[in-house]
Amino acid sequence: MKKTIAIIGSGFSALSASCYLKQYGFDVSIFEKNDTVGGRARQLKKEGFTFDIGPSWYWMPDIFENFFGDFGKSSSDYYKLDKLSPAYKIFFKDEVITIGDTMDKICTEFERIEPGSSKPLRQFIDKAATNYDIAINKVVLKPGISPFELVTPETATRVDQFFKTISGDVRKKFKNPKLISTLEFPVLFLGAKPSNTPSFYSFMNYADFGLGTWHPKGGMYEVIKAMQSLAESLGVKIHTKSAVEKIDVENKTAKSIKINGEVRSFDIVLSGADYHHSETLLNEKYRQYSEAYWSKKTFAPSSLLFYVGFNKKLKNIEHHNLFFDTSFETHAEEIYDNPQWPEDPLFYANFPSVTDASMAPKGSETGFFLIPIAPGIEDTDAIRSQYFDIIMSRFERLTGQDVLNNIIFKESFCVKDFIKEYNSYKGNAYGMANTLSQTAFLRPKLKSKKVSNLYFTGQLTVPGPGVPPSLISGKLVAQLINKYHH
Ligand SMILES: Cc1cc2nc3c(=O)[nH]c(=O)nc-3n(C[C@H](O)[C@H](O)[C@H](O)COP(=O)(O)OP(=O)(O)OC[C@H]3O[C@@H](n4cnc5c(N)ncnc54)[C@H](O)[C@@H]3O)c2cc1C
Repeated sequence: MKKTIAIIGSGFSALSASCYLKQYGFDVSIFEKNDTVGGRARQLKKEGFTFDIGPSWYWMPDIFENFFGDFGKSSSDYYKLDKLSPAYKIFFKDEVITIGDTMDKICTEFERIEPGSSKPLRQFIDKAATNYDIAINKVVLKPGISPFELVTPETATRVDQFFKTISGDVRKKFKNPKLISTLEFPVLFLGAKPSNTPSFYSFMNYADFGLGTWHPKGGMYEVIKAMQSLAESLGVKIHTKSAVEKIDVENKTAKSIKINGEVRSFDIVLSGADYHHSETLLNEKYRQYSEAYWSKKTFAPSSLLFYVGFNKKLKNIEHHNLFFDTSFETHAEEIYDNPQWPEDPLFYANFPSVTDASMAPKGSETGFFLIPIAPGIEDTDAIRSQYFDIIMSRFERLTGQDVLNNIIFKESFCVKDFIKEYNSYKGNAYGMANTLSQTAFLRPKLKSKKVSNLYFTGQLTVPGPGVPPSLISGKLVAQLINKYHH
């Protein structure tokens, strides 16, 4: 008899784990509370417009290829990938910086802003490329069990990079504040302030400038559809509208889970739901981490999001646009140090229909706006609407056009929705940040220390936030389960 595994949730990490576990020969069932799979990466379709509800930046294409490659497939078996050119645009108060799709184009842009800056840029990205190779091929594929995992011949000679910060490094090489913000942007994906992120994570800069920004035609949800299709073709059973209400444990062994009131027995339980929530499904004595533990951790930001249908094509925008016309430092302080609604928020705007006509009706534009905010702050309709007005008036001014009268509809999503839709701790959008004290073996563990057959995966455990790390997290936990239960 094959051992049975119940997986809670169907985000990237859970779907990834399900495929590997099936490949190892387990009998795998996924239970997802929502109507559709994908977790934070679900899709909204409305009046002919298509929105990715969560992730929109497709970075590190090699990691997606490695995933599909492990099953004898390629991303091209499921979706068409385009490299975006330009990758993105950054609006500052008095200037726009465009990040091209090659290092040569990016160097030309850096020289325009700060003469002489292309040389240190190339050096910085060369080092980042080496870090990428070490991080992706040597460090990140470890299960986060012991500190010794981090000690490899390559990391041993780079120990200083774990104690210096990205912020310090960038400031040593570049003087222009706009270039500094440009180079600090990629580490925001790790969920913490650049001044709190080790230099080693400059591999994110290589992911950005070296590997480029890609777009799966039809949007990020195409990746979820691909993974669902792969999982089902392997024989994974996927149940949606199936909220798990309890994990029952006897003698330190998970015996069954309760799904919509029905109790079902499994040999192994794996949760891909937010780690904090997953532990609340256990009786208190089986939880590894206390409320005090979670409250002390640095969480990645939550977000205020707007999904907007425009009835015209917009001007002066690209597929990805960052609005850094206000203070990066002040906004970061309002997220991490002194949690409150930002006085003058930075924001991100995504218009996939600029490069992909399938995302909006003809002559229209699909717009997704994101303001990063502190997790757990007050979320009301009035606040949402106040911030919509703030960013729209800045958007109109900086891009030189009127858009308010061209809005067909707008939907918003914020802290309360993250909690309701995903059982997210304090409504975090993308998990627990990767800081020095929250890296690798210092993160919540993949394997429970208190329940012998209970495991966790996803952005609150190793390696951390983001789609590529979630794919890796699923692989790592599947390897551990196979090691202990085959
Ligand atoms: C707005 C936003 C923008 C982002 N942008 C990017 C980006 O551009 N690029 C990038 O790489 N990453 C981005 N990220 C991060 C990325 O989306 C996440 O890191 C990744 O999707 C997390 O996947 P996961 O498997 O950890 O969990 P999740 O996607 O959170 O999946 C967990 C699942 O568990 C389900 N669940 C919860 N409780 C239960 C229960 N009791 N029973 C059953 N099911 C349950 C939830 O419904 C959910 O489906 C973004 C995230 C957000 C929110």
